[in-house]
Amino acid sequence: MIRVEHLQKNFGQLHALKDVTLEVNKGEIVSLIGPSGSGKSTLLRCIHGLEKPDKGKIYMNDELMDPQNKEKYREQRNHMGFVFQHFNLFPHMTVLDNLNLAQTEVLGRSKEDATKKSLELLKRVGLQEKKDSYPNNLSGGQKQRVAIARALCMDPDMMLFDEPTSALDPEMIKEVLEVMKDLGKQGMTMIVVTHEMGFARKVGSRVVFLDHGEIIEDAPSEEFFSNPKSDRAKDFLSKVF
Ligand code: ATP
Ligand code: MG
Repeated sequence: MIRVEHLQKNFGQLHALKDVTLEVNKGEIVSLIGPSGSGKSTLLRCIHGLEKPDKGKIYMNDELMDPQNKEKYREQRNHMGFVFQHFNLFPHMTVLDNLNLAQTEVLGRSKEDATKKSLELLKRVGLQEKKDSYPNNLSGGQKQRVAIARALCMDPDMMLFDEPTSALDPEMIKEVLEVMKDLGKQGMTMIVVTHEMGFARKVGSRVVFLDHGEIIEDAPSEEFFSNPKSDRAKDFLSKVF
């Protein structure tokens, strides 16, 4: 589904990603974990095209993602949904309008079709009754579920999450993780940067552990947690548990 080959990203003298090669197959739920500053967000942002790598290639469904090939590239990007730590909802628009916006503007859907899709997805995240609310009147967990629904409205083939629960109060984390878990059950391909080790272990199929811009381990979740190979992963796990 997505293949990253020898990716490098520098910020001045800092080598944020050194030589990252990674393949994620359809239906996999990959948890991207690692210490702060290890390059997790940078990797996701490069995959989504928010950051331009200095070297390396990214393929989606075996096709090169090439920013020079503008139209194709835009279409490839539309196949990925991105959910951030902060929700990036438009405060002056209702929940329904937030969900409709990119569908009508980017995909060219009619308002009627977009609304149908939006309501279907709001139902899926359990927020149908909030369609006319404004984001500021929602809880953090609800906002994040709206942000997930909004990304899903675009019919993505894969979802990228960057710490979707780390700005939330503890009691709201669960409702968001539940929505993500359901998504995984329905076969969505996901790359999830998370500090929720329970989620990574139980819901994720694979763990990719980054440190200092390098992939140190890439293993099935259970194997990673029960038997981490590297000292760096062991050290990391001893700090988070
Ligand atoms: P965290 O867990 O804290 O979110 P992370 O693993 O997501 O960390 P990144 O945000 O990818 O880490 O950052 C990797 C390195 O690149 C860090 O040293 C960071 O300071 C640096 N960095 C990231 N974005 C930029 C930027 N726009 N300009 C300069 N340096 C940056
Ligand atoms: Mg980050």
